[in-house]
Amino acid sequence: MSSYDIVVIGGGPAGLAAAKSAADNGCTSILLIERDTKLGGILNQCIHNGFGLSHFGEELTGPEYAFRAYEELRNTVDSLSDQAPGKNTPAVEILLDTFVMEITPDKKIYAMNKKDGYFEISAKAIILAMGCREKARGALSIPGTRPAGVMTAGLAQHYVNIDGYMVGKRVVILGSGDIGLIMARRMVLEGAEVLACIEIAPQPGGLARNVTQCLQDYGIPLYLRKTVTAIHGKDRLTGITVSEVDEKYTPIPGTEQEIECDTLLLSCGLIPENELSRKAGISIDPKTGGPFSSDVHETSIPGIFACGNVLHVHDLADNVTKESIEAGKAAALYVSGAASSTSDQAKNNPKVFPGKVVKPLASATSEDARNGSSASGNTDGDAAVQRMTCIICPRGCTLTVTLGDDPKVTGNACPRGEAYAIAEISHPMRTLTTTIRVRKEDGTIGRISVKSKGEIPKQEIFDLAGKIHSTIVDAPVSVGDEILPGVVATSGT
Ligand SMILES: Cc1cc2nc3c(=O)[nH]c(=O)nc-3n(C[C@H](O)[C@H](O)[C@H](O)COP(=O)(O)OP(=O)(O)OC[C@H]3O[C@@H](n4cnc5c(N)ncnc54)[C@H](O)[C@@H]3O)c2cc1C
Ligand code: SF4
Repeated sequence: MSSYDIVVIGGGPAGLAAAKSAADNGCTSILLIERDTKLGGILNQCIHNGFGLSHFGEELTGPEYAFRAYEELRNTVDSLSDQAPGKNTPAVEILLDTFVMEITPDKKIYAMNKKDGYFEISAKAIILAMGCREKARGALSIPGTRPAGVMTAGLAQHYVNIDGYMVGKRVVILGSGDIGLIMARRMVLEGAEVLACIEIAPQPGGLARNVTQCLQDYGIPLYLRKTVTAIHGKDRLTGITVSEVDEKYTPIPGTEQEIECDTLLLSCGLIPENELSRKAGISIDPKTGGPFSSDVHETSIPGIFACGNVLHVHDLADNVTKESIEAGKAAALYVSGAASSTSDQAKNNPKVFPGKVVKPLASATSEDARNGSSASGNTDGDAAVQRMTCIICPRGCTLTVTLGDDPKVTGNACPRGEAYAIAEISHPMRTLTTTIRVRKEDGTIGRISVKSKGEIPKQEIFDLAGKIHSTIVDAPVSVGDEILPGVVATSGT
């Protein structure tokens, strides 16, 4: 049985940052276990931009964020190796394609992989970083048949962005969380018709910037206070019934409306991946679905820490990284004996996490969304004004532009908002993110993620997407390579 000071379970941004931080804080015996064949977690399939503004100081796509997080960890490991010449093993070992099946309160880890079969590891501390999973249709109890074409938005994201399979032609999204909004845009860019995004609540669930850049930009209607009340079709989905709901979210009889579609994507929330934690006897907070934790993210079992989406669902990868740096440091101090356990505090410590920045937009009505405008125009006395959401950062300020020879912008919390608003009324710009086919060295065709080199005029998005879709590039490709004029790789072969 091998033993380590710290074992990190999960190689997404949480696990990568926690392992790095533990090493930065003096721990030289760390094992990171990831069930996938690649590090990066959910970020590998999130090919859109919107990550990294606070941690890396620039806007990155998910794969780029994962790449940078891995580079940070590798740099730490390399610098530690430089400091300890002759050391045979690196401070951080990484075990890919390995599934952790069980952990115990005395910090034994039972895992399996193709090479070693089923095996046991012991640790002085464990950091849980297993992420979260989506609520599937079963959890939502929609009545009706069980045809193909009904799946979670995250699964569709994996099929489209990683495997290169198109999941449908006429699509409805149930739920306006960020994954649903992002998949609505993604499906349009892949050639599907997205008929509607349906939300049971009176306001969208995702960030206001995503309502603007994913629905309004593409004319996708957002229906609030509605839900899917029946699913139709035998082998393949043929349609759904949508009903209005009352204040208690109960469908109102007589309001049914039929929509013909072949695909329903469910984006109705995420739950921390906590089977391992429950089995080990860690106390779970029913509000977050993740472990109760102390201020330094120790769970109710001494020496077991948790960070990232396994602790509670985060909107932003940057916040995951911040929290995981704290957890990694706390685990290193616990192992070195420099800090005593805080698990008693965790036992009774329901944490209150800052909520999502959700603002009902002035323009987030079905009508505006159908018009496909990110800015809603109206008049205010004599001056014509336009209202819009700033999409530059997750804060999503609501901006008001008073039109005229010298337009005036209000509502912006920083100068970037003013520049955005002025551009938006005269020449709106966007970054395109998509995937491209790549011919690998062995002749097989794979897929990597790409983005436009900087922002391009909004009306040129479909032309560039078409060019990218009709092209196959040859491997090898590295992150940052300009593989077509104006197109940069955001993941490598
Ligand atoms: C569709 C979508 C869009 C998003 N958009 C944005 C955005 O625009 N900007 C932004 O900042 N954030 C965004 N986020 C949020 C951000 O991506 C997540 O909060 C963050 O990636 C979570 O990191 P994590 O490491 O906790 O989890 P994950 O990235 O899910 O990593 C968990 C890892 O643990 C591994 N694992 C799980 N169980 C086991 C096991 N038993 N054994 C071994 N390994 C295991 C998994 O394979 C996975 O690699 C988005 C998230 C989603 C899903
Ligand atoms: S105005 Fe500034 S703070 Fe507000 S959303 Fe835009 S970039 Fe963010």
